Amino acid sequence: MKIGAPKEIFEGEARVALTPDSALQLQKLGHECYVESGAGLLAGFDDAAYEKAGVKVIKTAPALFKEVDFVVKVRPPTETEIKRLGAGQTLISFFYPGQNEALLEKAKASGANFIAMDMVPRISRAQKMDALSSMANIAGYRAVIEAGNNFGRFFTGQVTAAGKVPPAKVLVVGAGVAGLAAIGTSTSLGAITYAFDVRPEVAEQIESMGAEFVYLDFKEELTDGAETGGYAKPSSPEFREAQLAKFRELAPDIDIVITTALIPGRDAPVLWTKDMVEMMKPGSVIVDLAAERGGNCELTVPEQKIVTDNGVTIVGYTDFPSRMATQSSNLYSSNIRHMMFDLTPNKDGVVEHNMEDDVIRGATIAYAGEITFPPPPPKIK
Ligand code: NAD
Repeated sequence: MKIGAPKEIFEGEARVALTPDSALQLQKLGHECYVESGAGLLAGFDDAAYEKAGVKVIKTAPALFKEVDFVVKVRPPTETEIKRLGAGQTLISFFYPGQNEALLEKAKASGANFIAMDMVPRISRAQKMDALSSMANIAGYRAVIEAGNNFGRFFTGQVTAAGKVPPAKVLVVGAGVAGLAAIGTSTSLGAITYAFDVRPEVAEQIESMGAEFVYLDFKEELTDGAETGGYAKPSSPEFREAQLAKFRELAPDIDIVITTALIPGRDAPVLWTKDMVEMMKPGSVIVDLAAERGGNCELTVPEQKIVTDNGVTIVGYTDFPSRMATQSSNLYSSNIRHMMFDLTPNKDGVVEHNMEDDVIRGATIAYAGEITFPPPPPKIK
């Protein structure tokens, strides 16, 4: 099959869905690879690097869409991109079908097949294709780097001839994939790191990474907030109050807050309120990774960095993976390559879109003119 990556057209998006390395792997599966000229430039891959890896460079996006059987992308397709597709072609990208119903209708009408990387079931076998996790991991790392960039002090404590420097104190709220990456980065930079999550089962992971789990003195803590499937559910008002009271206690002493708390299918819970920001010392930094879903901090302005009257910097960027485009393109294209691996069972360049396979079925949101979202629950864990 012919697989091609167009240039991302979403403003500021620097990632690319196909890297020269992943193209080499795809060719081993019997596929031919294509890329739109300049598609990898912002991620550090020029046309010559693709050509060296045996990838054919095509001048324009319409020509690429016409040439290939599989279009691989990062951002959800635009209507214009969908119009370029027809029956027999497949597009693989993030899509968020639950939030993009009108776009899903257009996808159906095109007659092409659509695989959403955000719909890959989170089962063990599919971890290699779990682009949500690979991008969350980068976001968590980058959030700490961004915090450090806006913070006027060291993370680690030091005693030098010039004097004694106390270590920075970092609080990570939410210890899913992004939160754990933030905790690992923060502790490795030498900060005293605290972390909180409504799922008490993550306490051990937090502590194994050298951070301190913030326990609540709350009788329902062990049951509240955790639900089947490993995801959080909204907390009871009483639990939330206990959580906010704990955060108010910590706020004057914490230098950096990284918030990552999300509940599937809902707006992000507001956990760091205006009064907590006001209690923080000047020079403190908040990085709100939940900004795209409204933000965990009451004062976050999505996509922007602001400084409050009391000198607290609040970063609400929503494009952290794109800010590390080389790393994220490498990991994302690897997720895509693994998806293509499963779609090419005989490694002979022939795709079998097996709708009996839990992972392929789960991620397929439109197939041959039909909407196939939401999928049935996976049979295997
Ligand atoms: P997420 O992005 O949905 O949420 C981030 C974190 O915020 C979660 O840990 C959640 O518990 C926490 N949170 C929600 N409300 C909160 C509140 N009020 N206060 C503090 N924290 C709050 O999470 P995620 O990174 O997608 O991971 C969620 C789960 O999925 C984890 O158990 C993870 O191990 C699991 N997971 C499994 C796989 C796999 O099996 N392939 C892959 C990735 C993640």
